[in-house]
Amino acid sequence: MAIPGKTGRINCINTEIMNHMEKISLSKGFTLKLAGIPDTSVIRLPRPATVGVSALDIPHIRPKLLVKEKDRVNTGTPLFCDKRDTRIQYVSPGTGTVKKILFGRRRRLLEVVITLDAIDEFVQFDPVSAKDLAQIPPRELADHLKQGGLWQNLRQLPARDTADTAAAPPLIIVCLNSNDIFSPHPGLVLQDKIRQFEFGLSVLKRFSDRVIVAARTNSLALLAPAKHLITLQVPDIYPGWDPGTILYHIKKEAKENAAWYIGAEGLVRMAHFLETGRYPVNTMVTVTRGNDKKPHMITRQGSPVRLLAGNFPPGSLITTGQLNGRIKDPDAHLGFFENTLNIIPDTPGDEMFGFIRPGLNKPTVSKAFLSSLVNRKVQMDCTMHGEERACINCSYCENICPVDLMPNFIMKALVSDDIEEALELGLLDCCRCGLCSFTCPSKIELTRILSSGMDAHHKDKQG
Ligand code: SF4
Ligand code: SF4
Repeated sequence: MAIPGKTGRINCINTEIMNHMEKISLSKGFTLKLAGIPDTSVIRLPRPATVGVSALDIPHIRPKLLVKEKDRVNTGTPLFCDKRDTRIQYVSPGTGTVKKILFGRRRRLLEVVITLDAIDEFVQFDPVSAKDLAQIPPRELADHLKQGGLWQNLRQLPARDTADTAAAPPLIIVCLNSNDIFSPHPGLVLQDKIRQFEFGLSVLKRFSDRVIVAARTNSLALLAPAKHLITLQVPDIYPGWDPGTILYHIKKEAKENAAWYIGAEGLVRMAHFLETGRYPVNTMVTVTRGNDKKPHMITRQGSPVRLLAGNFPPGSLITTGQLNGRIKDPDAHLGFFENTLNIIPDTPGDEMFGFIRPGLNKPTVSKAFLSSLVNRKVQMDCTMHGEERACINCSYCENICPVDLMPNFIMKALVSDDIEEALELGLLDCCRCGLCSFTCPSKIELTRILSSGMDAHHKDKQG
């Protein structure tokens, strides 16, 4: 029997209760055996010379600039806002002078770059105590967070836009693990911050009675101090910890499709702002490269990519996700939601005699390569192993999709401009994980096509 709200097909959920913690399992998805897992040590990087606030990794934003070059800004001064709701502000993560404002094509805002002073001067907001929290109406609380530059940490499915306060969310998912396979370990993000995390959870409860805290199975050991707060254990199969994947496997009604979600660090930062009235400036970042085992790094939000990445071979590609990230310009700064940089060798050409090599080092889903049979960690690269071809209806994309979609059929509907058919086939359940593109032997950019379809639909709905 179809479950209301599920637009796809067979539901592969298997939920069981473990003490207070529920557990879901995935019958699809995939995890590559990748080299480069970060070390669990933590270092603090020196103060950078500049920080940048990027508008590029903020989905759906229509930025309105609030500063100009050479302006002086304090930590917490608004730099730009979202024209759709000007109360949602993006603030400076440091004190200094606006060095430059970078625009792309059609004057699209790319980044506001600040040269930092040696000492921070903060814009001071009213703190909110645990006692105040019970009194303050949710709308006022949301406005306070919007002005402080923290509200946008809360996002809404399925379009992943900033959470809309027009209606109370059916549930809020706190995803302790971020997007990438090697994103910062939540046990380190929450180290010494459990009290703030609990305060953050009580903030979320002002917006919804149903708050789910989800963590990857292999993160639980380091998360022992927060174990009593975790309510859902998700598998280590990529992308089991993604909010869209989690929602697909737990939802029972169509109205739950509008769930909100937030990451561990976003919630702690929100709590810090409410408790102190000051914008939190630090963030935890991981950098992966080949077989390196780099420590986790605490750095200023919006730090330069070069400061974080260190030395890397010329021509390397820097992405924010192994399977679905953005490509970063090495001269840019870390984006608002970005906390992982993967340095990947850029080798777009064909491999010499690739067809007779055993593929011991190939990152692949295919059993045709030796790497799938041996327990050896491989490194992601940019090799396409061929050019885009027509779909051969092999169903590989369908067999790997963690939310039971038929990406090939949805892609064909979108290419023929049939959005109704694409929606009917469950387009909005897509969690943009990138696995279908990765597995497609015809090199079809399924994830990009589906993501563009979802974004266009969201834009149309907004008018
Ligand atoms: S990106 Fe592809 S594999 Fe991932 S959820 Fe969407 S359709 Fe499925
Ligand atoms: S994996 Fe590629 S070729 Fe195979 S069915 Fe999907 S879109 Fe078509």
